[in-house]
Amino acid sequence: MLFAHLVEYFEKLESTSKRLEMFSILSELFQRVEKDEIDKVIYLCEEQLQPPFRGVEIGMAEKLVERAIARAAGTAESTVRERYNALGDAGLVAEEFLSQPSTGAPLAVATVYEELLQISGTSGEGSVDRKIGRLADLLSRSNAKEARYITRFVVGNLRLGIGDPTLMEALSKAIAGDRSLRPTLERGYNICSDLGLVAKTLMNQGIAGIERLEAHVGNPIRMALAERLTRAAEIVEKLGRCSVESKYDGLRCQVHKNGNRIDIFSRNQERMTDMFPDLADAARTHLVAEQAIFEGEALAMNEETEEMQPFQVTVQRKRKHGVDQMAKDFPLSLFAFDLLYRDGKDLTKQPYEDRRNQLDEIIRPGGRLRLANRIVTDDTEEIELFFDENISHGLEGIMAKKLDSPYQAGARNFNWIKLKRSYKGELIDTVDVVLVGYFLGRGMRVKFGIGALLGAVYDDQHDTFRTIAKIGSGLTEENWVKVRQMLDEGRTEHKPARVDSLIEPDVWTTPTYVFSVLADEITKSTMHTCNRNSEGVGFALRFPRIKEWVRVDKKPEDATTVTEIVKMFAQQKGGGAPK
Ligand code: AMP
Repeated sequence: MLFAHLVEYFEKLESTSKRLEMFSILSELFQRVEKDEIDKVIYLCEEQLQPPFRGVEIGMAEKLVERAIARAAGTAESTVRERYNALGDAGLVAEEFLSQPSTGAPLAVATVYEELLQISGTSGEGSVDRKIGRLADLLSRSNAKEARYITRFVVGNLRLGIGDPTLMEALSKAIAGDRSLRPTLERGYNICSDLGLVAKTLMNQGIAGIERLEAHVGNPIRMALAERLTRAAEIVEKLGRCSVESKYDGLRCQVHKNGNRIDIFSRNQERMTDMFPDLADAARTHLVAEQAIFEGEALAMNEETEEMQPFQVTVQRKRKHGVDQMAKDFPLSLFAFDLLYRDGKDLTKQPYEDRRNQLDEIIRPGGRLRLANRIVTDDTEEIELFFDENISHGLEGIMAKKLDSPYQAGARNFNWIKLKRSYKGELIDTVDVVLVGYFLGRGMRVKFGIGALLGAVYDDQHDTFRTIAKIGSGLTEENWVKVRQMLDEGRTEHKPARVDSLIEPDVWTTPTYVFSVLADEITKSTMHTCNRNSEGVGFALRFPRIKEWVRVDKKPEDATTVTEIVKMFAQQKGGGAPK
């Protein structure tokens, strides 16, 4: 496919914020794409060169891109800068300076993709100049529109706003004529976290190829998630005899071991290995298996006192600089709770009990790699006691697991059930909202230029963000200023794609940041679109306040879902106390 054709689709996608329109534009695009380039087109639609876990980054800030534009257009850098200051969009600047029709052969999608990949792989001495040279060369071979999109892609500002579920449905429509393949594609995606690979497998081997996809060391598996209940008795009713584990409040880690090589992935499939050298070491030395994929919760813990630090301390370890000092100050312990792969064998379909027994076998005692504490029981009182003990040790609560359940990648269901501590007058759990806009400040907040945030939850059935709260408390003055800066970076003139809102904030922003919010209860509301019915009644959070700002471990699609809110609303009537 010619890159110019892909650009036509990008233009169409950009001009709509309606998901259904995006879906039909994309399915038409996928019908036209060749089998061997579908993966590249998918990555470009996802606004990345490779799935995030491969850690591929172009590494060109706006300044360098301005230089490349200047070089391609044969003009002074200062002239380019001037236009950038006026237009505020590097893509439009490139388009303006490269308006001469290109004389060379038209660019193919594969050529542009390979060039961008080469730029990302350029490192070492003189790499900055070589990157600029390569990009300038690519821009001089492109026409004005192509230059607009290449430039936006390079500076990370494509903002098509397409979600993975929409891509999967469009792929299904392109191949099967309807959306029926989505569940199978989703399962394939959950096991390899690489939508390009899923699309390529589908095109080349059909849906049977997707069904054959298995766990693979090096490819993160999308993590299984838990449902909530409010009482120990409900857990026993639901699961009967089950495993009940301590619920640690840290960072979820999926560790991949292949001989001496260790990779550690976050909840959203980001590579964290370099941030956690202490954990990588522990996995290297205390795991008796050549190859393994296992999961656990990492927590800053004082080995002497066994005192577990709160999440706010642990999360400081998620950083790129000063890693060694932080590892000394706040060493992590990893509480392992599941084994997904062992020496050539995908274990995800095995029952939990078997996976956990094998995990117990391969962890060598001592050191910072530990097993999550657990009991196996069908006795309500025993669970309540275990819960109380955990709370008194400063833990968050408990996690019950169904003994015969497989590991269902990416799924939230009753195979795992969390029971958290809740105080009177509070919801049973925090709600993770994604910010979609903000309101200018009034009164005291005028000086910050921000007074409240518009928060949304995720409707995973329709790949849409629906509003649930206007949040005006829980941040320090300093953080209000920071939040405004962060949101301004993603500022959009119109309501962003995939956002459903009746409220018009002063500033819209591309859904990017997830905040954990505590509220007194979920109430019915005609203002918000979360679960809005035909009578115009939806759900809102009462007295929302920010508990944890910027959940670095969550993508917008990892926000609490509308379905979860519906269940939490039903549960809150029953109280909120754990017993
Ligand atoms: P939540 O983030 O409140 O939905 O709770 C689910 C999270 O609890 C998981 O994603 C893990 O990060 C964490 N967790 C802590 N302890 C456990 C455990 N024993 N088993 C599973 N997940 C756990």
